[in-house]
Amino acid sequence: MSDCIFCKIAAGEIPATVVYQDDEILVFEDINPKAPVHLLLIPKQHMATLNDAGVRQAQLLGRLTLKAAELAEEKGVAQGGYRVQINCNPDGGQVVFHLHMHLMGGRKLECLT
Ligand code: 5GP
Ligand code: ZN
Repeated sequence: MSDCIFCKIAAGEIPATVVYQDDEILVFEDINPKAPVHLLLIPKQHMATLNDAGVRQAQLLGRLTLKAAELAEEKGVAQGGYRVQINCNPDGGQVVFHLHMHLMGGRKLECLT
């Protein structure tokens, strides 16, 4: 999508600190980190929200989740603990409308639940 900031990052048109990528996933550091480790995991293919994912994206969503766990280990926050979060639409706190998963860790995170 031409006016999507995360599509532009995936295309290399906007710089980001990339920590992992393959043919379908890109992971980069959040520009405004809320925790010592704060990564964003995105599908390279544009999807606005989790509402747009269907069963055809099940494997991709699983891969994103497992990659988050793998990077938590790599970043040294797996044992202490971390959070994986997808915000959906305004009430869910979504600001960038390209599906993304937050991986946050490295400090005690406050809970909503
Ligand atoms: P949301 O609130 O949509 O779930 O999260 C969007 C996240 O994207 C925010 O944590 C914000 O800091 C991050 N973000 C917004 N614009 C950019 C950008 O241009 N580059 C990077 N690396 N992160 C961004
Ligand atoms: Zn996009």
